[in-house]
Amino acid sequence: MTEPRKTLILGSGPAGYTAAIYAARANLAPVLLTGRQPGGQLTITSEVENFPGFPHGVMGPELMVHFREQAARFGTEIHDETGVKVDLKRRPFTVTTDTDRVFHCETLIVSTGASALYLGLPNETKLQGRGVSACATCDGFFFKNKLVYVVGGGDSACEEANFLTKYASKVRLVVRRDALRASKIMQQRALQNPKIEVLWHQNVTDVFDVQKGKVTGLELTHTTTGKKQQVEADGLFLAIGHRPNTELFRGVLDMDDVGYIKTVPGKAATNLPGVFAAGDCQDSYYRQAVTAAGSGCMAAIEAERWLESQHDH
Ligand code: NDP
Repeated sequence: MTEPRKTLILGSGPAGYTAAIYAARANLAPVLLTGRQPGGQLTITSEVENFPGFPHGVMGPELMVHFREQAARFGTEIHDETGVKVDLKRRPFTVTTDTDRVFHCETLIVSTGASALYLGLPNETKLQGRGVSACATCDGFFFKNKLVYVVGGGDSACEEANFLTKYASKVRLVVRRDALRASKIMQQRALQNPKIEVLWHQNVTDVFDVQKGKVTGLELTHTTTGKKQQVEADGLFLAIGHRPNTELFRGVLDMDDVGYIKTVPGKAATNLPGVFAAGDCQDSYYRQAVTAAGSGCMAAIEAERWLESQHDH
């Protein structure tokens, strides 16, 4: 068995990299596995306006490059690999990566984030990348002068709809209730944008590809009357929330019904001593880059103190 590492961090969003910065500066020589989406969800957003320290905003991917550089500067060992198997039954814990590399660690910080949700329509998966997307920043460019629909009423939906107006001729925001969940400023921007039309009380219940292989239309269903209508569409963007990336820990760590890892209130500690959780994989409420970073810091400090307490014994 290779020498166990003091701390292994799973995930490379704001939580993972902040945990790495703190752990590295505490001489824990952390190893960080980036996961399948190095940099996490901020790499598929456009401008981040609410991360403190950037008065003029910063592009999400650029911010994550800074996080990575800062973690590396203090000696974090970063691998662009994904943890695919964990054994947390005994210590040191074991993490196996997608390249079959095996790490042993005394403490584990889980910061695996969350992923975009889809509606679950039969055609949706087939048409992903062919008009169906959950990332306007990634795919908006392909919808120049097109008619696109965005589903959702939260900050993501308003942000995506606004972003898409840079390219699309018209953006229709499909909202299932009579109100938006988004913050007031994001609502205002969407509602005042002349290229955005809000369709209240509607659900997207099908997506068509009459010209095979590319979105050509949608079925909308009124959420109170049940009335259905078919509309032409060139694109369908989903912005209906996220699912925590915690499958690896199902049955191992305590979770809520949705799969968010439960931590001790006010702490990053999980039900397993030596295992800590930070960021969106344990936070269904705030889900902000800055709160994720804060919880990454908490996880690293708790890991350091937990290791000290083990050695004191
Ligand atoms: P939210 O959970 O806030 O909103 C999801 C939206 O999708 C809700 O309007 C919800 O409707 C709707 N929805 C959910 N499921 C369905 C469905 N099956 N069919 C139709 N509509 C559905 O997620 P977001 O991703 O928007 O935001 C997550 C967090 O990230 C929030 O805390 C948000 O503030 C933050 N955020 C901040 C940004 C910023 O400040 N720049 C940008 C983006 C996100 P209903 O309201 O009826 O439940």
